[in-house]
Formats: sequence, structure tokens, C-alpha cells
Amino acid sequence: MKDGVRELARQFKAFLQTREEDELTPLSSPQGGAEQVMPAAGQTPENTPQDHLTIEFARTAHKEAENHPAGQMTEMHAPGHQADAAQNTAQHLSAETADTDLFGQTASVSAAVRAEAAQTPQTAPVQEAPVTPQEKQAALDKIAEEIKACRRCPLGQTRIHAVPGEGNPAAELMFIGEGPGFDEDHSGRPFVGRAGQLLDKMIAAMGLKREQVFIGNIAKCHPMVNPQNPEARGNDRAPNAGEIAVCRKYIERQIAAISPKYVVALGGVAAKALISDTKSLGALRGRFHLLHLDTVELQTPVKILATYHPAALLRNPNWKKDAWADLQMVMAEMGLKRPHA
Ligand code: SF4
Repeated sequence: MKDGVRELARQFKAFLQTREEDELTPLSSPQGGAEQVMPAAGQTPENTPQDHLTIEFARTAHKEAENHPAGQMTEMHAPGHQADAAQNTAQHLSAETADTDLFGQTASVSAAVRAEAAQTPQTAPVQEAPVTPQEKQAALDKIAEEIKACRRCPLGQTRIHAVPGEGNPAAELMFIGEGPGFDEDHSGRPFVGRAGQLLDKMIAAMGLKREQVFIGNIAKCHPMVNPQNPEARGNDRAPNAGEIAVCRKYIERQIAAISPKYVVALGGVAAKALISDTKSLGALRGRFHLLHLDTVELQTPVKILATYHPAALLRNPNWKKDAWADLQMVMAEMGLKRPHA
């Protein structure tokens, strides 16, 4: 055990050494990082990373009923349950006040977005999943074209570029954040700002290259505090519940097309939406969950693990050790070793 702790300390030290001067400058909210859903500074995992290797799959229906009273989002998604879950989501949206989103955050969910969410096709016919990398790429290309043409929610009216996501169509691992920020809106590519550069380092620390994974967001267009000013930095916010409800079909179709084995949710907003649990990020971290999808049916189960958004890590470098512990869990599952380890 001591050797394990020593090894962890060595790896953590190496991980910290990836920090550069950019982390000394606080960011307002690159990539739409949702600081408000992060645990308090200094929060640490209860167990050692080694202890985290126990995998917890979807909770039982009994627990689900306890945790999610009628009308709230539900996690159990065995075939045939999607329609019920999606209907619950739409009902929940329509029942909300105008000022509170699914995560208890103050947000304005417009009537138009509510109507769009309610009308969003909540079930998709089970289609033949693409199998070869070429078929997967073709499916992703088609989804990307739909995203670029999409104006289904107000974010589509103010974006500069839609940001469908990018990466290996046959990736075993996907990283999913909440929404594009300034740099992504201007480039049309996901995670290319300072948070994206840190994500690249996190991926490299796992012994992978960015090109080997797929990187995307739940919302495909830039959520802005002031939509009239897309040229302003620091104008980022997290997507609200209505925007997520309308847009999530795209990331779900991307997941279904890629059929990864693992998803890492970056930040509390993405974690709560994909795990379909309103617990804090701190409570969701530290174990695998079963991925929750509303609009498509997965051919095979996908494990999802939540960790901090890189933007949050830039603001709070002390959280890096916990993020590294999360990534090590994924590495252990995938049989990855750190480079030079
Ligand atoms: S955020 Fe999603 S739903 Fe809204 S316009 Fe962009 S692609 Fe369409």
C-alpha cells in the first residue's frame, strides 16, 4: 500500500508539473465551466484512488424511486424506458418555474425553449448502429451538418460557430463538457482555449493523444451571459436546463454512433445531465455510473465517470489531485499506463 501511495505521489507531482503560468491567471469561465456547481475548495475524496477502483453501476429501481420522486429525471434506462424518462423530463421542464433549472441554479428558461424541449422527439427508432470507423465517421459527419444548421434554441441565434465536437470516430473514450466558450465559438472546435490546453495535458497524462479520443459538449452553441456581445471574453455561462433538453439529442446520437466504452463527464453540469442525478459533482465523483441517455438506445452499456471541468482546475489547481485520481480510475479500467511510468 505504501508503494502505491508513493507511486501516486510521484505521478501527482508529475501531473502538477504540467501546470504552466497560464494557471496563475484566473479565468472567468472558459468553455462555460460552471463554477457554481463545484464543491467547496479543499474538498477531497474520502478514499484513496486505489480504493476507488470499485465500480458502481446503475442503482436499483428501488433506490431510484427513493432518489427521484415522480416528475423528476430518472436514471434507469433499460430498453423501453426511454419514452417514460423523456416524458418525465419534458413534464419536469414544463413544471419548472422560469427562474430555476434542473440543477437548482438560477436560469431563465424561455417559453420558446420549453416548447421546443417538449416537442423534441424523445425516442428514436432503434437504428442499425454504425460498425466500421468509416460508418461511424459518416454518421458523425451527418450529425455535425445537422448541428451546424440547427437554430432550435436561442443559442443558435447568437453563436458565431456551432461546435459539434471532434475526434476519433471509433474512440473507446469520450470527454464531454457542458458547452463551448469564447475560443470554441470563434473556431468551431471543442476545448481549444486554455481549458482545452489543460484537457490536452490531462489526456496526455493518461498516455493518450487527443486524436485517440472524442471531445464534445452537451450544448453545441455558446451560452452567453450577454448574447448581444459574442465578441466579449468572460461572457460565458453554463447552458440552462431547457437548452440542454433541446440540444442533448445531438451528443446522445454522437455517443450512440461512436459507441465508446467510457465517457468522462467534465464538470457538474455535464455529469448531472448524463448521469441524470441532481447530486453535486463532489457526490458523483469517485465511482463509475451507467450512462443515461434520453433519446437513443445504446447497443452496449457505457460507463461514465465525472470529474472536474478543466476550467475549474485552472481556477482551483488544488483540485488537480482529485481529477488525477479520477483519471487514474479510467486508466485502470482501460489498462492504460502513464507514459514514462
Ligand atoms: S445549442 Fe443545440 S439546440 Fe440550440 S441551436 Fe445550437 S445546436 Fe441547436
